[in-house]
Amino acid sequence: MTIQSNGPGNVPAPAFSDRSAAAIDVQQLHKYFGKNEVLKGIDFHVPVGEVVCVIGPSGSGKSTLLRCVNLLETPTSGKIFVEGDEITDPDADVDALRARIGMVFQSFNLFPHMTVLKNLCIAQQRVKGRSKSEAVAIARTNLDKVGLSGKESAYPAHLSGGQQQRVAIARALSMEPDMMLFDEPTSALDPELVGDVLQVMKDLASEGMTMMVVTHEMGFAREVGDKLVFMDDGVILEEGDPTEVLADPQHERTRGFLSKVL
Ligand code: ADP
Ligand code: MG
Repeated sequence: MTIQSNGPGNVPAPAFSDRSAAAIDVQQLHKYFGKNEVLKGIDFHVPVGEVVCVIGPSGSGKSTLLRCVNLLETPTSGKIFVEGDEITDPDADVDALRARIGMVFQSFNLFPHMTVLKNLCIAQQRVKGRSKSEAVAIARTNLDKVGLSGKESAYPAHLSGGQQQRVAIARALSMEPDMMLFDEPTSALDPELVGDVLQVMKDLASEGMTMMVVTHEMGFAREVGDKLVFMDDGVILEEGDPTEVLADPQHERTRGFLSKVL
């Protein structure tokens, strides 16, 4: 975001951040699966360096929205811009655009037959064209960052769920993305393992990483989120400052949802 001075002759800064400078800008996004319209005109943006948390009932379209943002799903209509580039343009270089976005799933999605180190290196070498020694150095830095130095030779099955998810985060970070998408990263974890994963995400946020996080962790949303978005049945019903939305939801359906999860 550019900071404008309000000197003579300057236009005052707009009330809302400049969308052309957004990390992610979603405009009138619709997604159908067959005849089922699961995203019904989604409009929102994520400013650079901010954390947007997305909540809402199961089936409301949260995962589909995230998957559209990195083109794991093809939007039916509407536009998505990543750092000002339209990724929904048919001529867009999808692989190059996707490389700017790290994604972490509920189910970790590590390669089970590869060691932790190999999990962190393979895409670096194959997609980024890094040498093995370069990839290993970056992998070690990111393993250290998620508190898992020393686990290089372990296989995923020998790690706890929380450790596996931190490996998945380190793997995404090793691609050096400009932003990270998280789809319920702690939902599959035993309660005592959730905190370590949230801490890694908090650290990332405080380093200025742009993040979009689908989560049911309202404490995280309140503490770390710059904005909270409530989705219901394919639309954004409500969005705003997390503390305000959680304390004083404006919509009946938001109140109903929060009464079940808080
Ligand atoms: P959420 O993440 O909020 O639980 P989803 O985005 O997973 O919601 O799903 C939204 C709706 O889209 C659901 O009705 C789901 O059944 C449907 N859906 C999701 N993925 C597919 C798919 N690949 N094919 C058909 N329907 C899908
Ligand atoms: Mg989902």
